[in-house]
Amino acid sequence: MTPSTTGCVLPVRPELADEVPYGAPQLDVPVLLNVNENPYPPSEEVVASIAAAVADAARGLNRYPDREFRTLRTALAAYLAREAGVTGLDADHLWAANGSNEVMLHLLQAFGGPGRTALSFAPTYSMYPEYARDTNTGWVAGRREEDFTLDPDAAVRLLREVRPAVVLLPSPNNPTGTALPLETVRTLLAAARTTGPDGPDGAPTASVVVVDEAYAEFRRAGTPSALTLLAEHPHLAVTRTMSKAFGMAGARLGYLAAAPALVDALRVVRLPYHLSAVTQAVALAALAHTDALMAQVASLREERDGLVAWLAAQGLQVVPSDANFVLFGTFEARHEVWQQLLDRGVLIREVGPPGWLRVSVGTPEETRTFCEALADVLRGPG
Ligand code: PMP
Repeated sequence: MTPSTTGCVLPVRPELADEVPYGAPQLDVPVLLNVNENPYPPSEEVVASIAAAVADAARGLNRYPDREFRTLRTALAAYLAREAGVTGLDADHLWAANGSNEVMLHLLQAFGGPGRTALSFAPTYSMYPEYARDTNTGWVAGRREEDFTLDPDAAVRLLREVRPAVVLLPSPNNPTGTALPLETVRTLLAAARTTGPDGPDGAPTASVVVVDEAYAEFRRAGTPSALTLLAEHPHLAVTRTMSKAFGMAGARLGYLAAAPALVDALRVVRLPYHLSAVTQAVALAALAHTDALMAQVASLREERDGLVAWLAAQGLQVVPSDANFVLFGTFEARHEVWQQLLDRGVLIREVGPPGWLRVSVGTPEETRTFCEALADVLRGPG
């Protein structure tokens, strides 16, 4: 007999009572274009390298992993220096965790908390308010313009009004694909030096400005990374991930670059040994194959530009994209369009402002299947 559970009420935090776990549907469909993954699996050579590194790590699994993972941090610093053309980065400037999701949680654990606020500009990545909720940090979402860009003057006004501990600025933004001009980031960084909560002496602290560059490697020419601003800005953190351009979403490795003092604050809140020996081994082995793993980034960019042009040619609105996905619309009944694409074996994402849909850039064959399916849906019945 099943024991009765009546009379036993779990003390779930009241603000979580009606919440459901975050996540897009994971469906078994031929064409998966819904979570901005890289469609190209690692080559057999990379797989062999990763397998050998994991075997090596397995021999030491009776021990806890290197808590400070300095070898990995050094390798990530070298990668960023090369990718963004910056100098002066070393292990002390780097931090990593299980996906940039966890890096962001560390940021809010260290700088947010009760009585403090995180600020971003909607529409934006839907996990941000969840990090705020989970760390008891207040959440304020300003608005982006009609074309999803950010008005720097309005953003600075909001910074001064809200005085956030943390500002989350995705560039390129998800779900719109919009990158921030470096000038806008500079303007916000200048204002943010004194827009944080009051410090112990009553004087205002800085707001920590997080530029979330999860999709940065897909940016179009002429959009420099915010990493180039790091040297002069101790309150800037630039987050990245191996989930997208590297095609390593399954490895769960996100990271950031910031001044060593900012990184030290994150070291305080991380769980001991949060990055497993296996994760460290996989990430290091993958980084040794950066060129092979990134070989498709250029073609994905081209594929994206082709997709933007094709969608526009269908008479649809398309948001210019610096990422590996495209937001398009608008549809009076977007759910029906999403469903009819799914019926044709193509899974995309129903996300963003009403009427819009987001599609990830796949292989040329996947993109072709998506375009054929969408053209069919747009023609309508009969
Ligand atoms: N930032 C943005 C803007 C994202 O879109 C995502 C993933 N969809 C992430 C961060 C988190 O990615 P991950 O945890 O895989 O690094």
